[in-house]
Amino acid sequence: MASDTTSSTDVVVIGGGPAGSTVSTMLAQRGVKVRLFEREKFPRFHIGESLIPETYWVFHRLNMLPKMKASPFVKKHSVQFVNAIGRQSAPFYFDENKPGECSQTWQVIRSEFDTMMLDNAREHGVEVHQPARVLEVIFEGDRAVGVKVQKDGGGTEEVRAKVVVDASGQSTMLQNRLKLRQWDPVLNKGAIWTYWRGAYRDTGRDEGATLVVQTPNKHGWWWYIPQHDDTISVGVVAPFDYLFKGRGPHEQTYQEEINACPAIQERLASGTRATGYYATKDYSYRSSQVAGDGWVLIGDAFGFLDPLYSSGVLLALKSGELAADAIADGLTAGDTSAAQLGRWGEMFGKGVDRMRRLVCEYYDGFSFGKFVKTHPHLKGKVTDLLIGDLFDDHVDVVWEPLESLYPPEKKAIPAW
Ligand code: FAD
Repeated sequence: MASDTTSSTDVVVIGGGPAGSTVSTMLAQRGVKVRLFEREKFPRFHIGESLIPETYWVFHRLNMLPKMKASPFVKKHSVQFVNAIGRQSAPFYFDENKPGECSQTWQVIRSEFDTMMLDNAREHGVEVHQPARVLEVIFEGDRAVGVKVQKDGGGTEEVRAKVVVDASGQSTMLQNRLKLRQWDPVLNKGAIWTYWRGAYRDTGRDEGATLVVQTPNKHGWWWYIPQHDDTISVGVVAPFDYLFKGRGPHEQTYQEEINACPAIQERLASGTRATGYYATKDYSYRSSQVAGDGWVLIGDAFGFLDPLYSSGVLLALKSGELAADAIADGLTAGDTSAAQLGRWGEMFGKGVDRMRRLVCEYYDGFSFGKFVKTHPHLKGKVTDLLIGDLFDDHVDVVWEPLESLYPPEKKAIPAW
């Protein structure tokens, strides 16, 4: 059906999460005309609350650092692992490895953080439409040439663009349409979480640490993330079938998992639940292509990796940054081909693979404490991986010693 109105711009961005805000802000900084469509009215709830330090460099380019520093978000200096019997390994303090302010990051309430990022995009000249749902991407042959948008007051608009960026998160608009999704063969998990008030909070430098607690049956792990509104985000991640098949309501499953995990039980003993329960499937996936003629995928619209090391927002920001550079250079050169728009895909994919490998090792029994005790000189490299320094091969020195400690024949980590 024809649209009510037609307009045009340089770049259309679908979705105003961290990926969409990043790509659009950086394009606007390069003088590119961007229209961003976000279907929700902000602030809106979103999961994905713990940042990792390599976001710092993207924030710097976005001019977001002063805003982050002035925000009430809890400062995060480390990630700490607690094993199945409740023993805590030495924390991975980020500044032991990379001194300076770039080693500190934040625990964010996403409704607030995503609003700040989108407001920042507006301030940089991005034309933000919200709430405005993109109904479909328009193609001429294999080339994306624009989108059809549902307007807030009713009716539709066709917006023609030289490049369409899909930053629609797990809606994966283009991945669905073009059938590009590849499911991860092993990372098929689910999560149940809620928020607590009055539960145990660490102090000082550990006040904002992310705690990762292995479940005693070793099927999964808990996240424990302190927030600035006095709540703590506490969630359990485990294989989807284990968590959701043949179990009771989410509330009951969550309670059963608490009962089985003394390390979490202790920390929640003084707390009361502040919200209802949330649950999600978090199967990992990625697209077989990062770009095509006139279109690019970023953030979760490209791929989603198990949240064990809190890498999702970093990957959204980083792919947004890399895509913005490729698009802006392409527009200057008059080249919006798949090769130009996706020039960053291989390097980015290798970075995701490094994080994925560390995720799979954890589910296969890897112990950070044991590894660091056996190879103390490699603690810095492991910390590099944990802060999100993924896009350089200097971190690859960890894999051989890791394999000698955890022999491959005992493991089952299929390639992806
Ligand atoms: P999103 O943040 O999902 O943004 C996409 C936006 O697109 C949304 O606002 C949506 O409304 C909009 N949209 C969708 N369809 C349309 C449409 N048709 N038209 C217009 N707008 C549309 N990451 C971390 O960094 N740290 C963590 O601790 C962490 N924990 C997690 C725990 C769980 C259980 C899960 C599932 C994920 C977690 N993540 C975490 C991952 C993180 O949530 C995502 O990686 C991140 O939000 C991706 O950002 P994005 O911008 O790509 O997508």
